[in-house]
Amino acid sequence: MTLQRPTTKILATMGPASDSPHRIRALLQAGATAFRMNFSHGSHEEHKVRFDALRAVAKEMGRHVPIVSDLQGPKLRVGCLDGGQLTLRYGDLVEAKLGERAGAGIIPIPHQEMFDALKTGDVIMLDDGNLRLSVAEEGKDRIVFKVEVPGLLTDKKGVNVPGRRLPIPAMTAKDERDLEFALREDTDYVALSFVQTAEDVLAAKRIIDGRAKVISKIEKPQAMEEIEAIADASDALMVARGDLGVELPLEEVPMAQRRIIRAARTRGKPVIVATQMLQSMVDAPTPTRAEASDTAAAVMLGADAVMLSAESAVGRHPEAAVAIMSRIIRAASLAEDYQADMSRAAGKPTADSPGSAVALSAAFAAEATHCKAIVASTNTGGTAYTIARLRPAAPILALTPEPKTARQTALAWGVIPVLTDEQPDFEGLSHAAVEAAKGTLSLDEDDRIVLLAGMPTRRTGGTNTLKLIRIGDGA
Ligand code: PGA
Ligand code: MN
Repeated sequence: MTLQRPTTKILATMGPASDSPHRIRALLQAGATAFRMNFSHGSHEEHKVRFDALRAVAKEMGRHVPIVSDLQGPKLRVGCLDGGQLTLRYGDLVEAKLGERAGAGIIPIPHQEMFDALKTGDVIMLDDGNLRLSVAEEGKDRIVFKVEVPGLLTDKKGVNVPGRRLPIPAMTAKDERDLEFALREDTDYVALSFVQTAEDVLAAKRIIDGRAKVISKIEKPQAMEEIEAIADASDALMVARGDLGVELPLEEVPMAQRRIIRAARTRGKPVIVATQMLQSMVDAPTPTRAEASDTAAAVMLGADAVMLSAESAVGRHPEAAVAIMSRIIRAASLAEDYQADMSRAAGKPTADSPGSAVALSAAFAAEATHCKAIVASTNTGGTAYTIARLRPAAPILALTPEPKTARQTALAWGVIPVLTDEQPDFEGLSHAAVEAAKGTLSLDEDDRIVLLAGMPTRRTGGTNTLKLIRIGDGA
């Protein structure tokens, strides 16, 4: 039980390299906070095994571990190639036809929308941008491409069409099946891929109907165009740099990352920085200096969480990747100017509701009296997110009777969830807050905490009360 410094969390993607209960335990011990199920890969049976193992290990370890179910979204893919692969040489002309399969030397593309939208001169990318083709001859069910960046194309590789908005629904039939499955498994967050508009988010929310919080993955230039409205509609954002870096010119990704983080942070909504953070650790036992620096930069920008993808899902060193990420986060957040940067970047400290005014006062009181923890009593998590938005110097304990809220708030910067019985009155709540702080942090009699609550309890959105408590006084 060490005194914890509030900081950035780690979201690790599950996969064959991290599935066993033994591995999950090791990843949690190494510093993972949350796990991502990637519905682009694997069957429901495989994901079911993961859900069960995660919940079982979390229970055994007494941890509140959020699960993020990441829906594939309308990702365009080529079909199956004759012989499973096709070598594309620089300058060659290559034919594409509508369908799942085509003849030898032809690229099958099973998306009519692409044939409708692409015009001569347009560029498409294949395999995460590794290959690039330009349209030499447009057509309704046949396109002739010219190879601009050559390489080997294999089955089912992703296709990006950076320049055109394709009229494709945000949620596919597969997404709807995956969503239903994930909600049945009581997923904590749902991540939506290739969101283009705020309406995409709202449409998904109508189906989800409060059963999980919604993360919008920002990976389309179209989403950047209305990032503020998308942030308003979402519960959290993800900087999905993998696809974003293919769809946008690469040099624009770092600035987009800053804008996305700012859009989330000013609203007090969690933001995750994702993809290739420690990419070389898929094979190597240590990251590159540049990767360490990139992860630290995300921490210094105040990201709520940083994500591991292939590193933890299929890499050779999943535990080492989490452990090193954890060390990078720790070192960055021990930097002298970290705390000052955090509070400054919180944006204008708005007190536009009683809840945020009380949160602001609590953060101020905690700083002025050197409180060791800020305890946010919360049913929905709202109070915890509101205080986390301010990036205070003391850890935030989210005290809640709701197991799902406990798990969800764990993804937010600096929040440590603590499950408690429902408290009938403020007296009971004060006692519970002291117990939670003592049980989570190492504290002395003279240490102080600040409690933030809505009275009477059980009224959502009614945070209106603040109390400074000396641990030795017990309440
Ligand atoms: P993905 O999303 O791994 O599901 O593609 C993240 C990204 O695009 O960066
Ligand atoms: Mn993506």
